[in-house]
Amino acid sequence: MCLAPVEIATVSAEKVNLLSAYKIYWYLNSVGMRYLCPMKLIDTHTHLYLEEFEPDRAEMIGRAVDAGVGIMMLPNIDSSSLEPMLKLAGEFPGHCFPMIGLHPTSVKENYREELSLVEKMLQAKNFYGVGECGIDLYWDKTFAREQEYVFRHHIELAAGSGLPLVIHIRESFNEVIRILKDVNNPHLKGIFHCFSGSVEQAKQATGLGFSLGLGGVITFKNNKMQETLKHIGLEHLVLETDAPFLAPVPYRGKRNEPAYIPLIAEKVAEITGIGVEEIAEATSANAMRLFFPEGKAYKTEN
Ligand SMILES: [Zn+2]
Repeated sequence: MCLAPVEIATVSAEKVNLLSAYKIYWYLNSVGMRYLCPMKLIDTHTHLYLEEFEPDRAEMIGRAVDAGVGIMMLPNIDSSSLEPMLKLAGEFPGHCFPMIGLHPTSVKENYREELSLVEKMLQAKNFYGVGECGIDLYWDKTFAREQEYVFRHHIELAAGSGLPLVIHIRESFNEVIRILKDVNNPHLKGIFHCFSGSVEQAKQATGLGFSLGLGGVITFKNNKMQETLKHIGLEHLVLETDAPFLAPVPYRGKRNEPAYIPLIAEKVAEITGIGVEEIAEATSANAMRLFFPEGKAYKTEN
């Protein structure tokens, strides 16, 4: 019984359905036979198509699968990342799943053009989320108004398609909450990517039906999120790397990759006092519910 999911998880060249391996894992967990099957984790946010991975992309994905991270969700950045992202998803079906969106730091003079490409792609191909979108007031506020316009448009696209939103909130948590409250659509779902706010902020986000994305930052010394985490239920959490950025300790400052997701899971286990297997099971189940809801058929290829 144990062999089937392990085999499926490692045969990436064949077009197998890895999702069934995850389902077997949760079934074994639910009937108390967790020991029969290795831990399964999901990296809900990783930019593996970027040039940082050019020299060893296949090996890096192999390391992720070996570490139990068989599913990697790819948020888009802009028109320049679209082709490499779709190529990667095509090369690793069942492992790499693309999303479509315009990153807030890519909102410039040509944002209308970029936005119409997002719309066109969403109609033409199969995507698993709307993102990376949101607002970034850390790097540059020049296009703050345009960023809001673009974000609101992404919310409409998510509402229309039923896909989850993957939201970037750098120095913009209050703006994002204001917009989501203004839109006031109870059917919206998604992730506050790289969340590291207060308990009150966490409750605001989860109160709107959103999950919190935890990444390498949680392993950094004295990070505020370590305290917040103690007050937030597991049902609201998903794991992410944001690779190649924000590598967890002990790789802080180096290139990040999905194989480091277990380090984040272990840190969450240490902070909350909950077993790492339970963290893996809950966060992966939360991610599956968001990106692969029951009853919705997905192709593994574009
Ligand atoms: Zn990102």
